[in-house]
Amino acid sequence: MITAEAVIDLSALRNNFTLLKSHCDNDTKLIAVLKGDAYGHNAIQVARALPHADMFAVSRIEEAIELRAADILQPILLLEGCFCPEDLQLAAQLNFHTTIHCLEQLQDFEQTPLMQHTSVWLKLDTGMHRLGVQADEISTYISRLEKSGKVAGTIGFISHFSCADDLNSHSTRAQLERFQTQTQPYPGMKTLANSAGILCWPDAHFDAVRAGIALYGIAPSIDEVGQQRHLAPVMTLQSKLIAVRRHQANQPVGYGENWTSDRDTYIGVVAMGYGDGYPRSAPNGTPVYINGRIVPIAGRISMDMLTVDLGPNATDQVGDSVELWGKHVPVEQVAKLVGTIPYELVIQLTRRVVRTFINE
Ligand SMILES: *Cc1c(COP(=O)(O)O)cnc(C)c1O
Repeated sequence: MITAEAVIDLSALRNNFTLLKSHCDNDTKLIAVLKGDAYGHNAIQVARALPHADMFAVSRIEEAIELRAADILQPILLLEGCFCPEDLQLAAQLNFHTTIHCLEQLQDFEQTPLMQHTSVWLKLDTGMHRLGVQADEISTYISRLEKSGKVAGTIGFISHFSCADDLNSHSTRAQLERFQTQTQPYPGMKTLANSAGILCWPDAHFDAVRAGIALYGIAPSIDEVGQQRHLAPVMTLQSKLIAVRRHQANQPVGYGENWTSDRDTYIGVVAMGYGDGYPRSAPNGTPVYINGRIVPIAGRISMDMLTVDLGPNATDQVGDSVELWGKHVPVEQVAKLVGTIPYELVIQLTRRVVRTFINE
């Protein structure tokens, strides 16, 4: 019997893709971000389900190689570029688009013999102050790259928002204006918006947008759930009840005895724990969906199990299905209770969780 399982609904994914496209002008390209094994959803399956994506993006070259090995033919953008000359040669050979965000990468590009012309995106620091070239360095980078004679087509521009998920932030508008001004003299493709930018900052769309979290049906903005934006959750994390136990009032449950029942009740034991990537920090009361209703987690999360209070009138049976997050329990809600963001929850599922794909 399969217990811990992440069911990936590829038709929900395609619907989210279409919805995000509809937020953009017709000629705006959509780059589907597949880093981190498509945020834990399986990059190859997600790529195959999105034949109309103009481009894919990943963070590490190994992730791009995996997609090419699976016969994914769209252009693949390396969001952080290549970290050494050998990787750059591989990128050129496999037709990846590389990013250049620092002097070392520029020098590697100039000095490394490449099998063919390679597409380059110059990363600009418009305010995140993590990666990227400063405004007064752009023209030097452009002229050195052009002089190298190795760039395919026109050099593109990429930058990243630090606060787009916070609609009240003034930083987003400032970053947008800097990006606009800095790239205005150049003809290349421009991309700035992540999911929050796509949904909330139409002025930030430029030539291409980069959709990550929203593609998976999860709201990018804090204090929202995807469904409010008509996004459908792609992942359902589920498992099974492996025990239903009579439990006496005033008795504790689990490690540290950190939950005690105030009444006679039934405790359900679910085969899902932090060994599957479910957060150990989930507090008592975190919602779980079972047989048409929400029940609270009761007691500490173990490595392989968690316990829920099924209530005194429970009729649930061993083998019944339990949803930890998905349509009925938004992963955004679990993330909030745990004090993290949904990105972390979906990406940290372990190998033990079986991925099942539906509506291919
Ligand atoms: C991860 C990432 C994205 C996607 O961000 P979401 O918030 O998941 O849409 C876009 N651009 C860059 C550079 C990224 O690293």
